[in-house]
Amino acid sequence: MLDNHYLLLTPGPLSTSRKVREAMLKDSCTWDAEYNQGVVQVIRQKLVSLATSAEGYTTVLMQGSGTFSVESVLGCAIGSDEKVLIINNGAYGARMVEIAALLGISYHELDCGEVNQPSLSAVDQILACDPTITHIAMVHCETTTGMLNPLHEVAELAQQRDKRLIIDAMSSFGGIPMDIAELNIDFLISSANKCIQGVPGFGFVIAKTEALEACKNRARSLSLDLYAQWRCMEDNEGKWRFTSPTHTVLAFAEALKELEEEGGVSARYSRYSQNQASLLAGMERLGFSALLDSTLHSPIITAFYSPKAPEYRFADFYTRLKEKGFVIYPGKVSQNDCFRIGNIGEVYSEDIDALLKAIEQCCYWRK
Ligand SMILES: *Cc1c(COP(=O)(O)O)cnc(C)c1O
Repeated sequence: MLDNHYLLLTPGPLSTSRKVREAMLKDSCTWDAEYNQGVVQVIRQKLVSLATSAEGYTTVLMQGSGTFSVESVLGCAIGSDEKVLIINNGAYGARMVEIAALLGISYHELDCGEVNQPSLSAVDQILACDPTITHIAMVHCETTTGMLNPLHEVAELAQQRDKRLIIDAMSSFGGIPMDIAELNIDFLISSANKCIQGVPGFGFVIAKTEALEACKNRARSLSLDLYAQWRCMEDNEGKWRFTSPTHTVLAFAEALKELEEEGGVSARYSRYSQNQASLLAGMERLGFSALLDSTLHSPIITAFYSPKAPEYRFADFYTRLKEKGFVIYPGKVSQNDCFRIGNIGEVYSEDIDALLKAIEQCCYWRK
């Protein structure tokens, strides 16, 4: 299992395969056709085909972590006379609100709290009452809690009300099957170091070509101009506007190959789902309980309540587990004391079994 110093049970960066890491042992020229046409363009085509087989979609790769891509979409997609409804039920929804506020984008926030799914009737009511809203933005899998938001239902509302739809599918794309055309999504955002299982360094936006064309001259930032980046890639066969993260791109190309070899998104979804189910069952056997109701869980990451024992400290638990080769994640919800365990990346059921054994040995507060 392990050719690494520890196994990451975190939602990205996550544990990658040796071959993905080895793909980075080559230097590439950002002007070279073998790199641009042979790697970047192939990645772009593959990303669109992972998202749909329908016509009319394209993709833009963007330097930076996933947030940079979210910021480039919000900053370019929503015109100065338009308004976005942001559905917020966790840190990543809140981050979109923060971006909109900072960029001076007109927005309406629907704050659902951290442990609830958005109410569809509340969404619909806001849309009915405020005809100036032109866009809806929502996180698909809220990595804060692991909650899966009702993508199909919100997509249907967007379609009924004729609103453009922006989905932060950062922690779900590649790990949960979805068809961007069926859902009529205008902009879907994800990044290299989540379910595709690459290393950090860039994000990507899969968009309706027509929606992206409408972003011309709308950017609120020079380097995060999604439209200009797209035109550069289209007009120069895969050329990035500014220095491209070449090593990360090579790793990503290998990661896409491995996703195909595994059997595609549906096979990966099964593996993640099995990981999550055995993690949850095993943790409950060990006396831990999950923050969310089991019907709300995603197969990506699970939040558990911290033990109530006064001796418990996350930092001590973390260090003991790390010594045994497992790295877990602190909590991110504000109201409840939690820790999180992700199961995406090069993580298989035998790893979950080994993790559960290690956790059992690390419950020092019980001794
Ligand atoms: C990881 C993630 C992001 C991006 O976070 P970065 O730290 O910028 O990579 C955005 N939204 C969600 C839901 C995520 O899981």
